[in-house]
Amino acid sequence: MKRYLGLIVILAFASCTQAQSKSAMKFEVTRTEAEWKKMLTEEQYYVARKQGTEAPFKNAYNDNHQKGTYTCIGCDLSLFSSDHKFESGTGWPSFYQPLVKANVGTTTDRTLGMARVEVHCARCGSHLGHVFEDGPKPTGLRYCINSASLKFQKS
Ligand SMILES: [Zn+2]
Repeated sequence: MKRYLGLIVILAFASCTQAQSKSAMKFEVTRTEAEWKKMLTEEQYYVARKQGTEAPFKNAYNDNHQKGTYTCIGCDLSLFSSDHKFESGTGWPSFYQPLVKANVGTTTDRTLGMARVEVHCARCGSHLGHVFEDGPKPTGLRYCINSASLKFQKS
């Protein structure tokens, strides 16, 4: 019986550390929840800070074809470029690579009963979306990003 209890504790600990992997990370830009709420709209806060997902198609940048740079809603770090944006048909802005690889961090997201690779801003930890391996050449990756986590700077 004691042995099983130990196993249960280990399993509980493992799933707990998995879920908290991002919150345990250290980011250069940090703000209190009150500060985040003050600087972001309700939807931006829900998506960027609570790992939410905005509605497909009815978002700011899905259909944006202008040339420019997409920066982080939380800290203005340059994340994606219009040069790498493609039509995925999913209803969310999609890119086959980040502008600078080091600016985008990843964790394993085990919510919704599946393992997905979550992507976030490497400087402030804001949730951006997920990356999948069904994108176009040359990377074969599809960064499926929420418009609510981005700010577009026209070039
Ligand atoms: Zn950021």
